[in-house]
Amino acid sequence: MRKLSVLVLIAALFSCKKDTSKDPGSTPVTTVEYSFDSDANSGLMFKDGEAMDIMTSESRRYEIGKVLRVKAIDSVTIEVANFAPVDIQDATILLTIEGQAKPVKLFKINKIRAHGVKEMKYPFTGSTTRFLNTDNKEVDLSQYKTSGIATSKVSFDFTGETDLIKKLKSLAKLKWTIKYQDYNPTDNPSDNWKDNIDAKDVRRFSGFIINMAYLFQADTTRRAFINEPIVDNDKVVMTTEQKSTAFQQLIDLPKFNCGVVVNVSGLGGGGGTFGVANHVLNDYLTTDVCFIAVHEMGHMIGYSHSSSMTYPSDPGNRGAVVATGNVYKLMLSQDAFPIKKTNYYKATDL
Ligand SMILES: [Zn+2]
Repeated sequence: MRKLSVLVLIAALFSCKKDTSKDPGSTPVTTVEYSFDSDANSGLMFKDGEAMDIMTSESRRYEIGKVLRVKAIDSVTIEVANFAPVDIQDATILLTIEGQAKPVKLFKINKIRAHGVKEMKYPFTGSTTRFLNTDNKEVDLSQYKTSGIATSKVSFDFTGETDLIKKLKSLAKLKWTIKYQDYNPTDNPSDNWKDNIDAKDVRRFSGFIINMAYLFQADTTRRAFINEPIVDNDKVVMTTEQKSTAFQQLIDLPKFNCGVVVNVSGLGGGGGTFGVANHVLNDYLTTDVCFIAVHEMGHMIGYSHSSSMTYPSDPGNRGAVVATGNVYKLMLSQDAFPIKKTNYYKATDL
């Protein structure tokens, strides 16, 4: 009896093996993997000497929740770009096609280097048209193999289990879109914008803005902010509800047009104007920079110097920059920020 069942089992195994070789539909689907970690397989954004119009172009705008950005160039071509100044490993790129319930795992990235960028064909235009969705169910994309997919019908995201990816994903709570801006292309001594920002400014800013976003996504920061005594433009103490609304306005800021200032430490205003001085871009990995950064963000949502959304004020020299600054210091002491001295890719920038 026992012998027989072993034989049956062996026969079953063999027949199974045979079937799979005949029927490609039953071979397990695997997600294709790429690396964009060298000059041989990727380019670099924000390299010294990169043209200003490219560094500051609207096409370089990215969502803070998608610093690992994939975008469709045309129906068969995509661009993968890492807007963080750190290498990202073990990420999975998800493709959502209009009308499909679940995103498709388009490919895995073993490693993309800091500021790495790569234009490539969709994997399904090549040898494999079988993919897995996020439920690990097979999806056949052969209908798109030749014609591709209209750019208007696709959207992308990334996912992964590493500590860094989880932190970068947490930034999706914020509506910030980030672009770099040369506010003063010609020498105008009457304003405080730096003449001709350079690639190093942008590289450093790219880490600074991620850490600021990480500060604002944290519930600890929201709680500290709401518990802080803060006065409005008329020096009236804000209610819990008003502070909650103000904090949400900061989270929901749609645009950060990031520039570099001189003579002053920062500039902020409506329309997404956000500038900080080079000393802030130099210090943010080791020092609380909220006194400047959060002050300017206060201006971005309409608060003046009368309000302690900008400068701390009486009673007790308190305000938004104090509450957020305390959490910033805590995060520094806990080595919690996504961008650190130890993972920033270009030692000469620091
Ligand atoms: Zn100010």
